[in-house]
Amino acid sequence: FQVPTAINEPVKSYAPGTPEREEVLATYKKMYNETIDVPLYINGEEITTGDTATMSPPHDHKHILGTYHKAEKKHIQQAIDTALEARKKWANLPWEQRAAVFLRAAELIAGPYRAKINAATMLAQSKNIFQAEIDAACEFIDFLRFNVEYMTQIYEDQPDSTSGAWNRLEYRPLEGFVYAITPFNFTAISGNLPASAALMGNTVVWKPSDSQIYSAKVIVDIFKEAGVPDGVINVVYGDPVMITDTVLASPDFAGIHFTGSTHVFKDIWSKIGTNIHNYKTYPRIVGETGGKDFIVAHPSANAKQVATGISRGAFEFQGQKCSAASRAYIPQSLWADVKKYVQEDIKSFKMGSPEDMSNFITAVIHEGSFDKLAKYIDQAKNDSDAEVIAGGGYDKSKGYFVEPTVIVTKDPKYTTMCTELFGPVITIYVYEDSDWNSMLTLVDGTSEYALTGAIFSTDRYAAAEATKALENCAGNFYINDKPTGAVVGQQPFGGARASGTNDKAGSYLNLLRWVSPRTIKETF
Ligand code: GLU
Repeated sequence: FQVPTAINEPVKSYAPGTPEREEVLATYKKMYNETIDVPLYINGEEITTGDTATMSPPHDHKHILGTYHKAEKKHIQQAIDTALEARKKWANLPWEQRAAVFLRAAELIAGPYRAKINAATMLAQSKNIFQAEIDAACEFIDFLRFNVEYMTQIYEDQPDSTSGAWNRLEYRPLEGFVYAITPFNFTAISGNLPASAALMGNTVVWKPSDSQIYSAKVIVDIFKEAGVPDGVINVVYGDPVMITDTVLASPDFAGIHFTGSTHVFKDIWSKIGTNIHNYKTYPRIVGETGGKDFIVAHPSANAKQVATGISRGAFEFQGQKCSAASRAYIPQSLWADVKKYVQEDIKSFKMGSPEDMSNFITAVIHEGSFDKLAKYIDQAKNDSDAEVIAGGGYDKSKGYFVEPTVIVTKDPKYTTMCTELFGPVITIYVYEDSDWNSMLTLVDGTSEYALTGAIFSTDRYAAAEATKALENCAGNFYINDKPTGAVVGQQPFGGARASGTNDKAGSYLNLLRWVSPRTIKETF
């Protein structure tokens, strides 16, 4: 079970004058000026349907990057049939061969495709280069490399045997095919959801988010070049309800690997329930969904550190991370300093298109998201129990730009303290220092979600109290750090409650969901 030791891919700096900066800028410009046509990808074949939609950068929404083709029901059926056919060979391939394919994909991203996948992520999802690098390059590479190591850990886990009997666990893939639904906000997650299931011997029907098809196409090309055989990962675009309903109607549907919104996941779960009598096997349901992630500061905390946690945790990638800080609880005694530092940070953030690398904030993903954010910001401007103390502006004339916005409220259950907005908006409640304990109860009771959260404190007793009191509120809990930026191999990622099934991306726990082990006892 020896495999190459996984190490985290070093993050390149993209500082002025570095070759990586020149290369990614040149690639971005070239891709911006070309238009591409993205077909469906089924059984290794590119299929055009003629029913197309356009793709545009969120920061430049009148510009067309290309078109993609939408599937009809018959294409989804074809993708399912193909996956089942390909499974016959792929599931029985020695694991080393499957591992080698994905290790090669990691090297292709680390080297020849790095600029392209980063530029595609800047264009399709409006990530600045630093956010693109840690996502589309480093995290994606890390998922691919670490998953191979985790796979061997799983295979090595064998039961005891006694003399005269030999017990073995054979980690077979699921019987059927796996459906992957992936989000716009992380290119790495988009690639990892189909890849991790496939690594364990499954074949996949993959539906990327409409807003990420442009960079998903780069992943499809990388997987092909890395040697993923035809039919192992089949990629479809189009009407999500039609696609999902067709997939879930198949008796061979064996599992879903999902990242996206809570309500879509719950819908899918209930449809699976409705179809349960038709399936050959109980489907595995693995999902990472929404969040209403918190920062709690104790009066002993360092105000500057808290402010940096807010500015980075809430506003990196325009707050479009499931993990982004979107509610904060700050003691009265620290508030003046925290407020001053956060306002200074926000003033220093430049907003604009990602090809200008001095821009920290770019656009939110689409008009629907922009309009939703604008509505909540306007409401806060008009409500008597809320105040906008930083940002609050928005403009969609060229791109979907929303300023990093801080709302302060006197009501700890104010709408934006409870509702997931998925954008660059954080709401802060200032509590009396003496209310520390009741405030922890409040944090626990405010949100249906439990993805990430952070406590800032220099007092170890307070840190311990918060860690215990908030044990059900976050699958990823941070002490004196922002609640975002989990690194594969270091902080296995996933949440509970309405945030998901907590099957920890970036760990063996996730890969275990994609196997159906057989126990073999042999006597002599
Ligand atoms: N893993 C990411 C983080 O720790 C968030 C993933 C997500 O937004 O889905 O920030």
